[in-house]
Amino acid sequence: MIFLETITTSEKRLCVEVGTRYFYYGDTPGNYDYENPGTQRWVELSEAELRARIREAAELIVESKKNVALTGAGISVESGIPDFRGPNGLWKRYGEHVGHISFFFTNPGEFWKFALEVAKVIFAARPNPAHYALAELEKMGKLHCIITQNIDGLHQKAGSKNVIEIHGTAWRLVCLQCGTKFPVEEIASKLMSKGFTIPRCLKCEGILKPDTVFFGERLPEEELKIAISESMSCDLFMVVGSSLVVYPAASLPGIAKSHGAKTILVNLERTAMDEMFDVVIYGKAGEILPKIVEEVKKMM
Ligand code: NAD
Repeated sequence: MIFLETITTSEKRLCVEVGTRYFYYGDTPGNYDYENPGTQRWVELSEAELRARIREAAELIVESKKNVALTGAGISVESGIPDFRGPNGLWKRYGEHVGHISFFFTNPGEFWKFALEVAKVIFAARPNPAHYALAELEKMGKLHCIITQNIDGLHQKAGSKNVIEIHGTAWRLVCLQCGTKFPVEEIASKLMSKGFTIPRCLKCEGILKPDTVFFGERLPEEELKIAISESMSCDLFMVVGSSLVVYPAASLPGIAKSHGAKTILVNLERTAMDEMFDVVIYGKAGEILPKIVEEVKKMM
């Protein structure tokens, strides 16, 4: 069966149904969950309901004494950096194996080809209104810290000061042989030159790896310790743009909740943990967060 699926009132896309499977043309994701037939990827909220939830989130922020945010790849999608598991996510295009440390060890050249493509996008990206909204909340004294799974440095670019990078940063490289770390600027001209594939250590010629956490690697101990202690001691925990499937980051909202914190989720799609949150808002972080900050300002 071939049919037109309505995406918004002005957008439709062509779908083909074969048995229980659906295929579609074009990039715009619809609300139909193709991987779980019969379910939707998010719950449509009426304008009034959306306003009410934004207000509820703002109230929780105003009442909070220590608010901690956990951000994921979704917050940077509106800056042009694709996420991993969203509709146009990197894993859908490259396969999840490229993110595994064993792939790096066996195919460093292949990995660096993939990484350079992603790095060009990350280095050129600018913060979007969601990053600025969190930076503003911090300035207003209404956000204690951001625990981020992102490696793009966009929170700092937006002006956030207290940022805990639990998955490392793409702005640094580490030598697998001698452990020296280099800011990416020191290697940048070589890295981006034509035909260049595997960057090497300026001291010992060892192979360099982005100073980010790959699948199969441990998280940086100090950052993880701080993230857990901040989650245990906050009274409000907000998650923005994360599918909450990558551990141990995904356990942080549960830790906060079990220590008495209220919880807010802002995400484009459902996550496996939606029921744990006091307020759930489905939508684009760059549209929702500035509205929450506006409400907070009115209430303060
Ligand atoms: P994920 O890809 O698993 O999930 C992203 C979530 O964000 C999805 O549920 C998606 O629906 C949602 N989303 C997409 N666009 C959104 C938007 N505009 N507003 C709000 N939500 C939106 O990402 P994750 O949970 O962070 O975990 C995956 C891993 O990906 C992390 O370890 C992270 O280090 C890494 N990663 C980072 C970047 C980056 O630094 N920007 C990019 C890709 C992946």
